[in-house]
Amino acid sequence: MKKGRIIILSGPSGVGKGTVLREVMRRRPELRFSISATTRPIRPSETDGVNYHFISREAFEKLIADDALLEYVTYANNYYGTPEKPLDEANAQGISVVLEIEAQGALKVFERRDDVISIFIAPPSYAELERRLVGRGDTAPEIMQERLRIARWECEVAKKYQYIVVNDNIERAADQIDAILTAEGCRAEYQSMILFEEEK
Ligand code: 5GP
Repeated sequence: MKKGRIIILSGPSGVGKGTVLREVMRRRPELRFSISATTRPIRPSETDGVNYHFISREAFEKLIADDALLEYVTYANNYYGTPEKPLDEANAQGISVVLEIEAQGALKVFERRDDVISIFIAPPSYAELERRLVGRGDTAPEIMQERLRIARWECEVAKKYQYIVVNDNIERAADQIDAILTAEGCRAEYQSMILFEEEK
C-alpha cells in the first residue's frame, strides 16, 4: 500500500484558501483535513472539532510540553498547531492529509519531513489581497493591519514551496491543485514497485 502524503496548503489571509480547499476536498473525498489546535476564539460559522480544536492556552502549552505537535506558531496573538499523531496514523493507512497552515509553520514542516507536497496559494496581486481582506469585514482594524503585514511576508516566502497556484478563479485554482496531486501520485518513489514485482 502507498503511504499517505502530507499536503501543505498556505497562502495569505484573504486569498480564498478556504474556498479553494473546499473545492479540492469536494473533488477528492479521499483526502483528510488536518484539524489544528488553536487558542483563538471560535467564529460563528465554525464548529469545534471540525474546523479546529478550540482549546485554552494551558491545554495548548501542555501539547507543546508533550511534544504532540508537528509544528506550532503564535499568529496574531494566538497559538496554532498541527497534532502529529492523527497525521501519522492517517499517512500509515495510506490516507493523504491536508494541512492548511501559515508559512512559518510550513517552513518547520519542510525541515522535519520529506514526504511533503507544498502548495502556496497566491493572490493575483497584493492590492487585490488587501481589497479582499477588507471586504471580508469580520476582523478588527488592528488585527487587519497585523494580518496584512504577515501577508506581505508570506508572499515573500512563497518561493520556498514546491508549487505556487494563483487564485484568480476558484475553479482554475482547484484544477491546478488537482493536477499537482495527480502528478505527485505518479511519482515513482511513491508507487509500490508493481513493474518490477511482475518480473520476479
Ligand atoms: P484563521 O484564524 O483565519 O483560521 O487562521 C489564521 C492562519 O493560521 C491561517 O493562515 C491558517 O492557515 C493558519 N493556521 C491554521 N492552523 C494552523 C496550524 O496548525 N499551524 C500553523 N502554523 N498555522 C495554522
